[in-house]
Amino acid sequence: MRRCIGCGSRLEPGKGRFCPWCLVRIYPDGVRIAGGVSVLTGFLHSGVVREMILRLKFGGERHLAGHLARLALDSWENIPSREDTVFPVPVSAGRLRDRGYNQSALLASAISRETGAVFKDLLVRAGGESQIRVPGSGRRENIRGKFTVLPETVSHGRFWLIDDVMTTGATITEIVSTLSDAGFTQVQPAVVCFRKIEVESIVR
Ligand SMILES: [Zn+2]
Repeated sequence: MRRCIGCGSRLEPGKGRFCPWCLVRIYPDGVRIAGGVSVLTGFLHSGVVREMILRLKFGGERHLAGHLARLALDSWENIPSREDTVFPVPVSAGRLRDRGYNQSALLASAISRETGAVFKDLLVRAGGESQIRVPGSGRRENIRGKFTVLPETVSHGRFWLIDDVMTTGATITEIVSTLSDAGFTQVQPAVVCFRKIEVESIVR
């Protein structure tokens, strides 16, 4: 029996991935500019997609990565090709120990399976305070110099930086700048959700 990927309710045969109740709570986004960098943003961090992200991130529901990856690929105006490389925003070793997995790596890996692009960890992240607890204005400073580029042999195609949620874009901007310093010019950041803090606080 097919079930809605948002809420698990039973679906009519051949009627898409969502039930009618979830379908009206999906908010597609498009492209956002962060620090001069163009970022593909699949959806607003709201409604059903937000709930799925939170379940993946904090509820241990790893299987949702595949569903979210397919949703994002359907929503982004460009997607990785087989010549491209996809890589996740890395988490610190401490965070990885606590959570057991990096949701961005699960998403990047699912995107690699769907598109044929190569999955590679391009970066290592130093420890330190998570961006979640840092106010917007301090995020760029908090994240500066946190990423190290691993030796990379691939020299063709685009490099797709994959993350679950972009808020201020400070992490993405820092990674693109770090990679640019290391000689990577073709970096395309793409996230499942764009989180607009003011709107979300009203909705709550
Ligand atoms: Zn549903």
